[in-house]
Formats: sequence, C-alpha cells, structure tokens
Amino acid sequence: MTERRETALRWRRTKIIATLGPSSASFAMIEELIAAGIDVVRVNMSHGDHPTHTRTVQRVRRAARRAGRHIAILLDLCGPKIRVGSFADGRIELATGETVTVTTRRVTGGPGLIPSQYRSLHRDVRAGERILLDDGKLELRVRSVKGTEVTCRVIEGGVLSDHKGMNLPNSALSTAALTDKDRTDVRLAIELGVDFVALSFVRSAKDVLQLKRYMKRAGGNIPVISKIERPEAVDAIDDIMEASYGIMIARGDLGIELPAEKVPLIQRELIAKGRQKGIPVIVATQMLESMMTSSRPTRAEVTDVAGAAMLSADAAMLSGETAAGRFPLQAVRIMDKVLREVERHQWQEGCFASEPIADRGSKAHVVRESMAHAAVQLAHDLEMEAIIVPTHTGNTARIMASHRPLAPTVGASSDERICRQMTLNWGIVPVQLEASREHDWRAICEHIAQQCQLGRKGRDVLLVSGFNDDPKRDEPVLKLLHL
Ligand code: PGA
Ligand code: MN
Repeated sequence: MTERRETALRWRRTKIIATLGPSSASFAMIEELIAAGIDVVRVNMSHGDHPTHTRTVQRVRRAARRAGRHIAILLDLCGPKIRVGSFADGRIELATGETVTVTTRRVTGGPGLIPSQYRSLHRDVRAGERILLDDGKLELRVRSVKGTEVTCRVIEGGVLSDHKGMNLPNSALSTAALTDKDRTDVRLAIELGVDFVALSFVRSAKDVLQLKRYMKRAGGNIPVISKIERPEAVDAIDDIMEASYGIMIARGDLGIELPAEKVPLIQRELIAKGRQKGIPVIVATQMLESMMTSSRPTRAEVTDVAGAAMLSADAAMLSGETAAGRFPLQAVRIMDKVLREVERHQWQEGCFASEPIADRGSKAHVVRESMAHAAVQLAHDLEMEAIIVPTHTGNTARIMASHRPLAPTVGASSDERICRQMTLNWGIVPVQLEASREHDWRAICEHIAQQCQLGRKGRDVLLVSGFNDDPKRDEPVLKLLHL
C-alpha cells in the first residue's frame, strides 16, 4: 500500500503553465522552472517582439530536451484587445461626475479627451452602455454618440495613462476575431511549431473557426485554446468547446467584463463542463499575484490554487508571477506544493472528481465511456500500479484523463507533438515510444515501467487503447498485464 501510494503520488495531476517574460526567459531560469515542475510554457504576444519570442521558444525546446521532459508551448494571441491611445502629458485625470469624450479620431488625448485605438468604437457603443478603463478601475457611461465622438459621464474617476486597456462589457463588438497582428503572430506560431495557440476575447465558435481557417491556409494545424473572457463566450460555451481543443478561464478580463463576483461560479461550471466534454480547462490569472513582489503568497491565493485542484481543473496558470515578478521560481514551487497537498488528500479519499461523466451522446461514445469508466474502476479494485494508454492522436489518453483515474496514467505515443499536447491533460504522464515498438504492448509496458520507475516486481498494469472518433475504427481494448 505505501509503495503503491508513493508511486501514485509521484506525479502531480493538475498541470502547471508558466508564462515566460523578462523574469524568466533566460536559459538557466527556464531549466530551473522545468526542474520545479512546469508542464507548459506560455508565450504572451501582448509583450515582446518576434526575435525575442523565437529565442525563448528555442531555449524551452533545448532545456526540455536536456531535462528529458515533454514541455508544451502555448502561444497566446492578443485578439481584439482594446486600448486607449496616448495623452499629451502621458496621462489625464478623470473626476467622478464630469463629462468626457472618447474619440476614434487619430489624435493625442488631453483633459476631457480620450482617444480610442479601436476605430469602430463609435459604431459599436450605445447610450447607457459602460466603458471600463485600466482593468476596470475607471468607469464611464455612454451618454450619446455623434459621429466619431462618444460623450460619456465618469462614474468612477481616477488617473488614466497611455495605452491602458479598455473593456466594453455591454457592447456587441463588430471587430474581427483576428487582428493583423494576430495573423503575423499565427504565422510565427506555425513557423516555430508551437503546441497550442490561445485566442483572446473569443465571442463565439465562429471566432475559433476563423482562426482555424486562417491557420489552415497558412499551412498549420495547431490546437486552439479559447480564452473565456467575454460575457457572450460564457453564453456560447457549448459551441465554443465543440470548436476548441481546450479553454482558458481568463479571470483577469472576465472579472472586468462581468461583475467579479460572478467569476467563481462560472469557474466551477466551466471546469465541470470541460470534464464532461473531455476538454482541458485552464484556470488563469492572479493565482499567486502577490508573489510579483513577495516571496510568500497570501492565504487567499493559496486557497485559490487549492480550489483549482479541488474542482479538478486540468491546469493552473501563472502569468505576471513568472513573467515579470521577482519570485518566478518560488511561485512555481509553491503552486506545485499546494496542488500536491490537495491531490494527496483526494487520492487518500479515493476521489479526484466528485461527479461521474454523464452520457456523452452517440452509441460509440457510450461504449468507450463505459470502457473508460470500467478501466478506472478495475485499476482501482485490482490495485494496478498504472494505467498505460498507447495513443496515436492523444484521444484515448484525453478521454481516460476526463474520468480522473486514481492510478497514474501514462499516455504513450511515438509522436513527439502528441506527447507535448498530453502535458495539458489532467494527470497524463507523456512517454514517447519508438515507432517500431508501437504494436508490442508488453514491450511498451515494460519500457514504460522502467522509464517511469513503476517500482514493484511482479506488478500489474492496465492497458487501455483504441478509442477512435470514427465508429468504424473504434475498437476499445482493455488488457491486464503482469510484468
Ligand atoms: P491576458 O489573459 O493575460 O492575456 O489578459 C488572461 C486574463 O484576461 O485573465
Ligand atoms: Mn485577457
């Protein structure tokens, strides 16, 4: 029991994503972050230029190879993020109650005049709608629109400086899902062969499909992570999940576009829904925010990270903490410790997720869901050392992950890209196989047992394979092997 427990708890189930930036882009720091347990690296297109991002990606690939780990790279597109322009003095002061004009003319701003970089603003906003500035710290309400001039009343005043963000939570935005910059960034993503592309401010499945179409034309086929940070996206979540590889709960902008108190329940609902659909869900933003400047997190932050594991999110993400903070490495170490503490308890209790997977629809699906469910149960009842999942597309591993097995679950593929993709799936330990070995299941299991140090002699493992979306090729297999 203790040996099996030790083996089972060697791997953290909730994956960690670290955003790289000035605090963490050096080769030495990337190596340390990998050693501390990150699974995925995020490269944020809101900052930095292409040569810098290219160097970062190359360093990550090199460091991962040296560590013998699969590390995925997620390239995060800005999407139609709206910003104010610049001011003559670099900033203006807005007094609560005063009247100001937001203009879409290309002018320099000044007292009472805020230039918008988003040129269609005057066409998209209506009287009565809110305009939020600088992470929602300042608030305007539209009174009237005349030509390019939007007259507003200041509801919540303060200082507004150059290029601060602008959120239009009530307005239906006519902007395209992809900006010109996004298109250039997508081409970079394809050139660098990154593993995931995240799209910001997704409104509907149409936005996701537009990105996928563009990517295909540009010669790429990278899985898309939809960032949920617009109110419409929450309403259209089923279709968005259908169109996406996974989603990110982008709590920063989501908590501006919607009242912040709505975020916790949305988070819970989206995590549960993602698992039901077999889609990875990332919890993002401000998880250990105070560690930007402090070597210790607040108790509230620790509880937030723990909460992501308790809700059984696939991954937790660090943003500024690792990109620009003073304690990037400590932030990863603390996140790792907190997640592991929760998971140890969950494992002990015999449950990583409170709800079973509901019926996922078609007959083929029902068969494989039952197989996956049975596999998890079998591995538990027979005290199997591990579940081993040979997988070509990552599909079988992803479905097994959504059933949240208690036994460590290895996703085995000869395709390096698929191994990297599996780093985002809850609990999956990716192992790369030699292509020639792919069909000898016993050899695969022995290789994995050795590589993953599945310690005991005479151990039993459960092999699960063959889930396929095409009903003709769907041949689910469960096989018990005594090694
Ligand atoms: P961002 O997305 O860091 O690109 O803004 C995350 C969020 O909004 O929470
Ligand atoms: Mn955002």
